[in-house]
Amino acid sequence: MIISFEGIDGSGKSTQAQILADRLEHEGRTVHLVREPGGTVVSEHIRSILLDVKSEIDPFAEMLLYSAARAQLVRTRLRPYRDAGDVIICDRFYDSTVAYQGGGRQIADLAWLDQFQLHVTGGLVPDRTYLIRVSTEIGMRRQQGRTADRMERLGSAFFDRVIKAYDDLAEKHSDRILLIDGDQPVDLIAEVVKADLAQLPAFLEGLG
Ligand code: ADP
Repeated sequence: MIISFEGIDGSGKSTQAQILADRLEHEGRTVHLVREPGGTVVSEHIRSILLDVKSEIDPFAEMLLYSAARAQLVRTRLRPYRDAGDVIICDRFYDSTVAYQGGGRQIADLAWLDQFQLHVTGGLVPDRTYLIRVSTEIGMRRQQGRTADRMERLGSAFFDRVIKAYDDLAEKHSDRILLIDGDQPVDLIAEVVKADLAQLPAFLEGLG
């Protein structure tokens, strides 16, 4: 099954993705934790172009680069893992492009981008998505002390639009996306994820 974590930078996605991966591994599951963009040699090359503060990238080209990195990751790694019955945990996937390039950059209609991502992943959609929601202010505060990459340098108005687009996605795909208040202690958020997963059919099937 595929589980993705989404949210703005500093929301706590990576923290939660790692906690979940450790827990499931401890329980004996085969787990693959992947971060986007990246996860394959080609996708990591694309990642370095995308996050380099010296790259001047046209916004539409930026969307295609994220999508290219994802297409490579899905076809060479995620699909085979999923077919083998492994658990895949994605630190960003699919919805990030709709929220960042659609909401933040406003390069295209959100619905069109959402549909386009279906082609990028060849129809592979996460079984469950945890959207960790924090305000732009909290996200920025939590990032203090780390060197901001090209995307993290975008201003607060940009992140406000990203949050709004994520909210819209959560409403549209309420069956798949669980919105979690990220302004809670790490352990509490991990508990919400744990309790939610425990009742998901796709997760329980993997136990058999
Ligand atoms: P992201 O992957 O969304 O950018 P991280 O998981 O890297 O976010 O977390 C950003 C920073 O915030 C880290 O220093 C992390 O320890 C801290 N952090 C994560 N979750 C929480 C939380 N729920 N409450 C307070 N601080 C948190």
